[in-house]
Amino acid sequence: MYTQINNLNTEIVSGDDALAIARASDILRQGGLVAFPTETVYGLGADALNSDASAKIYAAKGRPSDNPLIVHIADTKAVYELAESVPEKAVMLMEAFWPGPLTVILNKKNIVPDGTTGGLDTVAIRMPSHPVAMKLIKESGVYIAAPSANTSGRPSPTLAEHVIEDMNGRIDMIIDGGAVGIGIESTIVDLTGEIPTILRPGYITGKMLEEIIGDVSIDRAIIEPDPNLRPKAPGMKYTHYAPKGEVTIVESGQNDKKVIDKINSLIAEKTAQGFKTAVIATKNNAPYYNCDNVLIVGEADKGVTISANLYAILRKCDTIGAEYIYSEALNQNELGGAIMNRLLKAAGHRVIKVH
Ligand code: AMP
Ligand code: MG
Repeated sequence: MYTQINNLNTEIVSGDDALAIARASDILRQGGLVAFPTETVYGLGADALNSDASAKIYAAKGRPSDNPLIVHIADTKAVYELAESVPEKAVMLMEAFWPGPLTVILNKKNIVPDGTTGGLDTVAIRMPSHPVAMKLIKESGVYIAAPSANTSGRPSPTLAEHVIEDMNGRIDMIIDGGAVGIGIESTIVDLTGEIPTILRPGYITGKMLEEIIGDVSIDRAIIEPDPNLRPKAPGMKYTHYAPKGEVTIVESGQNDKKVIDKINSLIAEKTAQGFKTAVIATKNNAPYYNCDNVLIVGEADKGVTISANLYAILRKCDTIGAEYIYSEALNQNELGGAIMNRLLKAAGHRVIKVH
């Protein structure tokens, strides 16, 4: 663990301000830290090839040093500078999904310092599609190592305000690009083995990957909460995304009424005991909860309406001071796998099934 600094004068600028992007580029070239918007979540950027610079990311986030960083690029040529070998399937995925929310894991070349890869022989690479991210990578001329711009363990930031909450005083600059589009982190695919393997589910689903490259497997450790399985993406083993209150997911196949009744009875019980509660609800069910804090996360069958709001809502639970939080299972949509992966972590895998 690194010592945290908290005395920098963090400049907050607009993504539309060309002069500010020029200053951000200078900061990155000089080894400083700049938070910027991407289409997934806000990233906390530093020069990926400068290990002193990437060490500052770990310090600012309080991130465990064995948790490697994703390197952001703006031109596929960069992949050949960073990676030792680039398999055909990686090229196919890059062509299909870049720029976009897909990260590929490849064997690294020596120019990528251990400080960026957490000591691994592999490197994670992504080309983001957000125009501010693109501009920053191109104008700075550096490959930008960037994890999510939150304090380690908190929900990832989907608004500049979230970055300010966590990083003000710890980094040199925050570029405000408004709300991000997708709201959950990129899909990570490991291409160093025989069969491509999803290490973290995201907006690009397994089905979308299989349409391009055929068979894809999924790291078992991310779908089964078995403490004996070690996730291949080191970051997936840490508690994440969790508000301070206790989150419980209430699930009942397709029967919304049973879920609503169960959540209402849990709320009545906790309220009677003097606790502050919140509900994470889909839009159609929201009117039926008897709770002071019903947080509408999106439409049950439209994944992006949920992924775009989930982290902001988990943060809101802290602002409200909710001590017990009950969430519907948010799995009845095309992003159900990726969304439930985050929600289950926020809930510490606490699930009540009502049938
Ligand atoms: P973040 O950018 O904060 O969402 O975190 C990056 C994620 O990518 C973490 O879960 C890391 O463990 C994962 N990651 C980065 N580099 C590698 C790598 N070389 N091999 C496996 N996972 C990686
Ligand atoms: Mg993160």
